[in-house]
Amino acid sequence: MSAAEVQARLDTLRQRMSAVDAGALLVTTPANVRYLSRFSSPDDGAVFVTANGATLLTDARYTTQAGEEALIDVDIVAGIDDAVLARLNGAGLAVEGENMTVTRYRALARRLGYEPIVLDGAFAGLRVVKSESEIEALRRAAHVTDLAFAEALKMMAPGVTEMEVALSLESAMRLNGAEGASFTTIVASGPRGAMPHGVASKKPLASGELVTLDFGAVVDGYHADMTRTVAIGQVGGEERRLYDAVLEAQVASLAAVGPGRSGREIDQVAREVLAKHGLEKYFTHSLGHGTGLVIHEEPRLSQKSDTLLQPGMIVTIEPGVYLPGFTGLRIEDLALVTADGHEVLSKSPKEFMAL
Ligand code: ZN
Ligand code: ZN
Repeated sequence: MSAAEVQARLDTLRQRMSAVDAGALLVTTPANVRYLSRFSSPDDGAVFVTANGATLLTDARYTTQAGEEALIDVDIVAGIDDAVLARLNGAGLAVEGENMTVTRYRALARRLGYEPIVLDGAFAGLRVVKSESEIEALRRAAHVTDLAFAEALKMMAPGVTEMEVALSLESAMRLNGAEGASFTTIVASGPRGAMPHGVASKKPLASGELVTLDFGAVVDGYHADMTRTVAIGQVGGEERRLYDAVLEAQVASLAAVGPGRSGREIDQVAREVLAKHGLEKYFTHSLGHGTGLVIHEEPRLSQKSDTLLQPGMIVTIEPGVYLPGFTGLRIEDLALVTADGHEVLSKSPKEFMAL
């Protein structure tokens, strides 16, 4: 992230502030605080934006860290809202509606003597198209995710528990430079695979089962996301048929990713492949989502999404089928939309694999 990128983001925000006659904006959504400052503990900070300034407000625990990381001015303060009130100088205050509690809003209103302007969607459309440095961070996050998958393959065997597999993935990600996991790691084997978000349990892997791993590394604040499903030993013919159908749907919908295509259109490609195999009713979620400073971002790839893809957007493509009481599986890649199509950032193999 560069200082020039931050200035461009601030310019956009200032246009939106002046459109609602706000002289100051208090940014409190952690992802947006990080987006404007590069500060990596944004839960404990806020950014105060005015017509000609932008200041990261945080407390004394972060004096050194904020000084090292921030691309805007830093003020070490005892209380963020006290600091905001002291700096307003008569400017009308706007707040982000998305991340402020009603309690905090009322307290601000009481102290100001008026209700702050609620600028919902202040960042709308801003984070959805990634800059070069954001793409680079996501590329590295996807690479670390690939490395972790290769490590997990070495230790997966009958008798190893789902939790042990999750620990292997998370440990490999951290050892390769991730600041954390993008979300609670999913390891779902056998019948547990029918839960799309089956977080790792104490269940041991067993021969003849499919195992779904959904996980991702966070690098420089950017969240990777990948799913692979592998077989333990020999699986039945039905499991294999399901795998081939999901892979076909994944490959076809990934191939459809490109500028000008709508989220709905790409989702539909996967749904039609699964329908051809009589499996559409088992695909119970949307095809994919954007990712960035948070794991689920715009654009959505779903039956309701009219968003048109643009170069610089990064999306997941993750069809799956879930058959309660029997099994389930999903295959997910991260893809960058480019001027003439897309580039797949997830490099792990996805051909059917039996361990
Ligand atoms: Zn995922
Ligand atoms: Zn995902």
